[in-house]
Amino acid sequence: MQRIEHIYINGEFVLPHGEEWFDLHNPSTEDVIGQVRLGDALDAQHAIAAAKAAFPGWSRTTLDERIAALQRLHHAVAAREEELLQAIILEYGAPAVRGRWMATYPADVIAQAIDALQAFDFEEQVGMAKVILTPVGVAGLITPWNSNAGFICNKLATALAAGCTAVIKPSEMSALQTQVLLGALHEAGLPPGVFNIVNGRGDVVGEAIARHRDVAKISFTGSSAVGQHLLRTGADTLKRVTLELGGKSPTVVLDDADFPAIMPLVLQAGFLNSGQACIAGTRILVPRSRLAEFEAVAKAGVSRIQSGDPRDPATDIGPMVSQKQWERVQGYIRIGQEEGARLLVGGEGRPQGLHAGWFVQPTIFTDANNRMRIAREEIFGPVLTIIPYEDDAEAIRIANDTDYGLSALVLGKDLERCGSIARQIDSGRVLINTLAHEPRAPFGGFKRSGLGREMGKWGMNAYLEPKTLIA
Ligand code: NAD
Repeated sequence: MQRIEHIYINGEFVLPHGEEWFDLHNPSTEDVIGQVRLGDALDAQHAIAAAKAAFPGWSRTTLDERIAALQRLHHAVAAREEELLQAIILEYGAPAVRGRWMATYPADVIAQAIDALQAFDFEEQVGMAKVILTPVGVAGLITPWNSNAGFICNKLATALAAGCTAVIKPSEMSALQTQVLLGALHEAGLPPGVFNIVNGRGDVVGEAIARHRDVAKISFTGSSAVGQHLLRTGADTLKRVTLELGGKSPTVVLDDADFPAIMPLVLQAGFLNSGQACIAGTRILVPRSRLAEFEAVAKAGVSRIQSGDPRDPATDIGPMVSQKQWERVQGYIRIGQEEGARLLVGGEGRPQGLHAGWFVQPTIFTDANNRMRIAREEIFGPVLTIIPYEDDAEAIRIANDTDYGLSALVLGKDLERCGSIARQIDSGRVLINTLAHEPRAPFGGFKRSGLGREMGKWGMNAYLEPKTLIA
């Protein structure tokens, strides 16, 4: 039973003013495995004050100094990979393969931020003007539980690369993972106050950061509802706001696709991160003329997917992060049936043989239409919806008939046709016959999936303000 009592302000581990203790669970067993003491609004204010005091010094560091500091961060985080992996499996329940990715990505994304910094032009001559990109100030970084260390490292490394200082509010449900990461960040020996971490509730610590006049920028990853709230709140102090929000991503299967060959991609995209992924391909658009054939291949594919103990290397899908999330997903499985979609595989309750833990059966609905709630709302669990279509035009119309636009996947043999369809889908990212990630390209969403972009030079720009000098 681990008790995490300290938060991190001005280069030191300090006791928070907040006195509430929050239980941490192992989602595979439902056992309480630890407790974290939560900070409050006063703690947030102290952290913001430290970041504000550190800003003049940090914003004037040279490129070489910032690269050296980020390299120290990178080494320290990479050295904690095993420890982080254990925390990820214990506290989040990520299956081994996914967990390994989640444990290596935090260091990788810092290296990617270093690359972006090295390639970045902070000055540009435009006619008679010199345009200088200057850091915006203190950045408030608010992250969710579904890839805690990765989101923190991406936002923090980019903010620091741009010359900003930071106050981080991680998800309160990820405190063990945050604690491992924090050990590494502390070891990197950055100047005090350059980054600060306050565990706490969203509506307490997050809210205090979002309202504070000394926070110039918010970078948030989480639900669309909280993102919209932060945008409204930030308006009072005209904060710069980057939002990475939810998704209901389409996987468009074209009528020339080889179903057995593409099925691993369809299922990986859909069940990514045990279904708790903003980019998960949860709406599968299938040509009606080949629906029965697709259903048979999908059913066979799901029968090979193992759901259960995240420590078992054969496990593909782990538990939901919390009981609340489990109940929410169960609710959607009920809704799908009530709406008249046909259950192809899976259903309510735990997978066979599992009697504890927040496990959900990998579930696919078919014969659904795009008006159903299971086709419109983010479920955030391993529940996929097959929607039949008549022709390419209808597939594109359905793909775009959504409030979201974060990611999409197009699968087919004719690459020219795939490319043409990809260009017509309204989404921040469209993948064709692959699930590959390109860290130098922008990541972010259209519509309710977000505002602004992370990664590469686009990510850097989000922490910078252009200043025009004319002599
Ligand atoms: P959430 O929005 O409930 O919480 C995210 C973070 O915001 C947490 O740290 C939470 O404490 C904080 N928060 C909550 N209320 C707040 C408030 N009033 N003010 C300030 N901060 C507040 O989301 P979640 O349940 O933790 O994560 C799941 C959601 O995140 C899903 O909708 C998913 O799609 C989205 N997500 C998006 C991306 C992306 O890159 N687009 C990536 C991962 C997750």
